[in-house]
Amino acid sequence: MKTITVRTGVRIQMIDITDALQSAVREQGLENGLCIVFVPHTTAAVTINENADPDVVRDILAATEKLVPADGSYRHQEGNSDAHVKASLFGASETVIIEGGRLVLGTWQSVFFCEFDGPRTRKVLVKLVADP
Ligand code: ZN
Repeated sequence: MKTITVRTGVRIQMIDITDALQSAVREQGLENGLCIVFVPHTTAAVTINENADPDVVRDILAATEKLVPADGSYRHQEGNSDAHVKASLFGASETVIIEGGRLVLGTWQSVFFCEFDGPRTRKVLVKLVADP
């Protein structure tokens, strides 16, 4: 298992981690298999979406904020319930197929680490599984 460290700079942010994942695949010399990405945090997540137009990320974050406002009426004492809800909406893991030593992603797809309660230093766990 490999750990990627992600430092987020603001409270809500999506950071493209595709290159770091591809480097992990290259380092291990894996040709064909699966890349499992897991975020071990309760207020952060991982998702796959468009990397080409930065407005897509902006729109995703704006829509998420509208859906689950930071200043909503919540009971959790820590004051970051919106971040917990957002993290669960996006999910803690993604699986990407590896073929020929490359992550198989659509032309416009990237894997994004999603921060919902930053800025913080975060971990992304990566498990590479070779084809049998
Ligand atoms: Zn909390």
